[in-house]
Amino acid sequence: MIPGARLVILGRQGAGKGTQCVRLSRHYVVPHISTGDMLRAAVREQTELGLMAKEIMDSGGLVGDEIMIGLVAERLDRADAQTRGYILDGFPRTVTQADGLDEVAGDKPIDVVIDLYVARDVVLQRISARRVCRDCGTNYTATGTERQPWICEVCGGDVMQRADDHPDAVNRRLDLYEEQTAPLIEHYTSQGRLVVVDGVGAPDEVFRRLTDAIGKRV
Ligand code: ADP
Repeated sequence: MIPGARLVILGRQGAGKGTQCVRLSRHYVVPHISTGDMLRAAVREQTELGLMAKEIMDSGGLVGDEIMIGLVAERLDRADAQTRGYILDGFPRTVTQADGLDEVAGDKPIDVVIDLYVARDVVLQRISARRVCRDCGTNYTATGTERQPWICEVCGGDVMQRADDHPDAVNRRLDLYEEQTAPLIEHYTSQGRLVVVDGVGAPDEVFRRLTDAIGKRV
């Protein structure tokens, strides 16, 4: 077991970050911190942050950098992340957020940044079939034969399509990814911190590739 791994997982929407991060989190026994999940929880709980973020998220836009950096800074300050480390999923998404993260991480810098690479046409197909439990975030793939209402096997919550997984919002998010998040890949590559992992294949196979890549760096 790796004590205190600090990982960032980048990748297009639908690349499998959520699924793989849950597995990595169990494997390395470090908290999985998904900014998308944190924001969705805030929306459900109708906090001030949630009320502000909802419209932006539904339309496929990005919540402001300052707010996101503050949210992550607070989360990384908690005891579990301080002692065990973390897997960041969905953050950073812009170069400004990456700089913010370096500042927040301070003398405990990120060990490795992974780009879970899946081409755009492949993720588009995956997202159109993606369903998610609104309570625990478990991901499912729709085949069209599911019983309705669809109940989560893990927690009994409702399995639904995310409001931002509809085609217009998906295309907007993928465009934004190219515009704002792809430069991050450049940024981390130039710093020698990026490892690209092929995200196409069976989940077990992709997981093995990820742990191999992480094992060489941590
Ligand atoms: P996806 O990667 O499929 O877009 P996420 O669950 O990571 O889904 O995020 C859902 C939404 O939450 C994003 O479309 C965006 O509006 C918001 N969000 C999440 N993380 C960030 C971030 N780091 N910066 C800005 N907005 C974010």
